[in-house]
Amino acid sequence: MSEFLETPDRQTLEAWDDKYVWHPFTPHSVYRSERPLTVVGGEGNYLIDIDGNRYLDGVASIWCNTFGHRRPEIDAAVRAQLDKIAHATMLGNATVPSILLAKRMVEIAPQGLDKVFFSDNGSTASEIALKMAYQYMQQRENPSPKKTKFLALANAYNGDTIGAVSVGGVDVFHDRFRPMLFDVIRAPSPYAFRCAACGIDGPTQIGRQCGGGCTDAIERLMREHAEELVAVIIEPGFQGAGGMITYPDGYFKKLRALCDELDILLIFDEVAVGMGRSGHMFAAQKEGVTPDLLCLAKMLTGGYLPVAATMSSDKIYEAFLGKPEEARTFYHGHTFTGNPLGCAAALAVLDIFQKEDVLAEVRRKIDILNEGLTGLVGLKHVGDVRTYGLAAGIELVAEDGFSAFESSERRGMKVCAHAREKGVFLRPLGDVIILMPPLSITDDEIHTLIEAVRYGIETEFGA
Ligand SMILES: *Cc1c(COP(=O)(O)O)cnc(C)c1O
Repeated sequence: MSEFLETPDRQTLEAWDDKYVWHPFTPHSVYRSERPLTVVGGEGNYLIDIDGNRYLDGVASIWCNTFGHRRPEIDAAVRAQLDKIAHATMLGNATVPSILLAKRMVEIAPQGLDKVFFSDNGSTASEIALKMAYQYMQQRENPSPKKTKFLALANAYNGDTIGAVSVGGVDVFHDRFRPMLFDVIRAPSPYAFRCAACGIDGPTQIGRQCGGGCTDAIERLMREHAEELVAVIIEPGFQGAGGMITYPDGYFKKLRALCDELDILLIFDEVAVGMGRSGHMFAAQKEGVTPDLLCLAKMLTGGYLPVAATMSSDKIYEAFLGKPEEARTFYHGHTFTGNPLGCAAALAVLDIFQKEDVLAEVRRKIDILNEGLTGLVGLKHVGDVRTYGLAAGIELVAEDGFSAFESSERRGMKVCAHAREKGVFLRPLGDVIILMPPLSITDDEIHTLIEAVRYGIETEFGA
């Protein structure tokens, strides 16, 4: 056996990790001191590190693990596909799992999303939606060549490629690149806890609603720019990477009505919330709104393999038809678009949703999570607790109950490090502690998660 088939010891791996690997979203000057896990295995809702410790995967391996690690049905589906073929192209060509998956997805999606365009990650899923929408406006029956702009929100996150970064609104990630990005009409974030439009008042509470300033602002901007707007791109349910920020009730119905009235397309980036997180298969269904384009990725394959999808209406698809020489074709595609192993995993995931009445269970667990979280409200350094579906953001603040910490204090990371002592793996967004467990989390594990966060906060701030 080659030496490379054996796992070197922990010290060697850490040394090689430091020497050879450049990690995503990771300041390497503090990486080692913040004691990263070296994961060697997984079992159900737990990660296993190189020392054999087990940690509840409280962020579903960055929001993508749906039904736990090494779920037998998904493992078996990937293995069975591996015995057929690992990959073949979808460019002008077909593969069996992608056909079967597209059919199933259209069957469960909101009515009116009729076609599935596959890619391989959330960033591409949103890039594709932007490019489709743009090209659609140029070649639909009554073309609108003046429509060249997008509207997106402050605190939006749609991925890390340049188009996705252009519509992105998280300053710390995106500002650096502004000179190389396209211009976007920017509407305010529905960030009620720190909202300039609405002001701040009242005690901390779960589900604090904003005063409607952000809704008025987006309407004003859409009316003002309707002639040049291709689409609004938005994360329904919550702005995820922006800090788990939720919207006022009725926001999406209002947005849909405005889009219809003003001839603007509506793009839902459901990369984080899609596939059951909301207690519905898609947040679109929970909100009772059908977008023109819908982006999926993270949980689509159970968090196993990179497959993403951009779903569109037949109306949009049909605008791309014509003779090849008319060049109406959508010239976009990735080498690993619709990878068969990933599509096989996604089919197994959809089977589990169907067989186990997962969504009803998720809704029940959402209630347990929300009830448990009330126990964190009122802790001195908890400024705000925001939830949507089986997900929560707990915003840490200074003594006064509102001021943010200096980012150099890395309070969020420290609270998560303490939580790890209680056997829970978490990764914060700045000083917002994120809970985004696999949908398969048990009731007891939900309590473990919340208690680990409480312990982390009390340890970091001295109760
Ligand atoms: C994670 C995420 C993306 C980007 O997905 P990647 O697979 O990391 O490229 C896009 N949109 C939303 C809402 C996300 O949460």
